Amino acid sequence: MNNDNLINFSLLRQRANFIRRIYIEEMERHLLAFEKKANDNQINVRWVNDDFELSECLLSICNRNSYRTVCFDLDEIPEFFNNSTQQIRKIPLHDFVNKYENSDLLVTKADFAVVETGDIVFINREINNSLNQVSNLAILLDINKLIVREQDLEPILYLQSYYKNHTFLPNDVKIIQTPFAKICEDEVFGSETPNYRTEQVKIYLLLYDNGVSSILESSSYRESLYCIDCGRCKEVCPVFKVTGQYSPVDLITLKNKNRGEIAKIITKNTTFCANCDVVCPVNIPFTEIMIKQLEQTKIRGNFKKVFANAFSKRNRMNKLNNKVQRYFFLNRYFKKNKELYDYYRSQQEDFFNIQWEENHKRES
Ligand code: SF4
Repeated sequence: MNNDNLINFSLLRQRANFIRRIYIEEMERHLLAFEKKANDNQINVRWVNDDFELSECLLSICNRNSYRTVCFDLDEIPEFFNNSTQQIRKIPLHDFVNKYENSDLLVTKADFAVVETGDIVFINREINNSLNQVSNLAILLDINKLIVREQDLEPILYLQSYYKNHTFLPNDVKIIQTPFAKICEDEVFGSETPNYRTEQVKIYLLLYDNGVSSILESSSYRESLYCIDCGRCKEVCPVFKVTGQYSPVDLITLKNKNRGEIAKIITKNTTFCANCDVVCPVNIPFTEIMIKQLEQTKIRGNFKKVFANAFSKRNRMNKLNNKVQRYFFLNRYFKKNKELYDYYRSQQEDFFNIQWEENHKRES
C-alpha cells in the first residue's frame, strides 16, 4: 500500500510551518528557557556567535583541561582553531568511530533540540553509537534548530526523513537529555581481568548564532529560518544542479553581504522557477523572500520591469517544449549567463517548473 495516500501532506506541511513559526517568532524567550532547562539537566551551555568565537570556546575547553586529542564530526574544522593548535592532534572521525584511536574531546553537531525537555537530537549520524566512547563531548547547535514542544518533534522528524531519504522515519535517532555514563576499563597490575568503572561524560552545548539573529531582526526574511535541513530544495533547483554553489536556502540566508552583493548573487543564481516554493516541507516562501531582498536594492526604480521580465520568462520557459524554440529563447535571454545557458541547453525535460507541470498533467 502506498503510504502517501494515507497522509495528508498539505496538512502536515501546514502543521510543520506552524511548529517552526511558534519557535522562530519568539526565539529569544524560548532560547532562554532552553538554556535554563539544559543547565538544570547538568549540561554546560555556552553561546558562540561565529566561527572565531567557536574556535576560541573550543580552545579554552581544551587548554583548561589539557586535552591533547580532538575528533571533529563537523563539515569543517573551525578555521581559527585549525590554524592555532599545533599541540592538539586531530583524530580522524573514521579512526574514532572504529575505535582505532581515542580522543579527549569529540566535537559534533546536533540536528534539533526541544525547549520543553532540553532534549538534544541527533539523526542518522555516524557517531550515534560512539558517543559513549568519549569522556568529553562538545555539541554544536544552530540557534534556529529548536522546537518548543516535545510532541512537535515527531512530525518534524517525519517530514525531514521523508523529504531527505524517502523513508517514513529516520533509521537512527539518538536523544541526549543529561550527561550519561561511560564505562571505563582500567588495567589492574598483576591481574588478567581489567577493572571496570563508570564515569560521567561531560557535555558542553554550544549555542551557535552564525548570523541567525541578524536574519531574525527582519520580519520579512524570518521565515528563511524555518528550514529543517531536508535538502529537497537543492534537488529541484535547476541552477544549483549546474553550479553546486548556492542552494535556494543559501540564497535566502546570505550572511555578511551588503544589499548590492545579495542582489547580484540572487539574480545570478535563480531563474525564479519556484520549484523550491513547491517542495519545501515547511512552506518557506522562497520567491517572495528573494523578491523582498531585491526590492531593497538599487534596482528598486525599475523593479517592476525586472520582475515582469523574470516572471514572463518563467511562463515562457514552461512552454518551451521544442528544441528550436528553446534555442532562440536561450540565445536571446541567457547568452551572457554561461552556467544557466549551458544548463538549459542540456535540459531534456519539457518543463522547468514543477507546479506548472503538475497543473498541466491535471488538465490534460
Ligand atoms: S529550505 Fe530546503 S532544505 Fe530547508 S526545509 Fe525547505 S526544502 Fe528542506
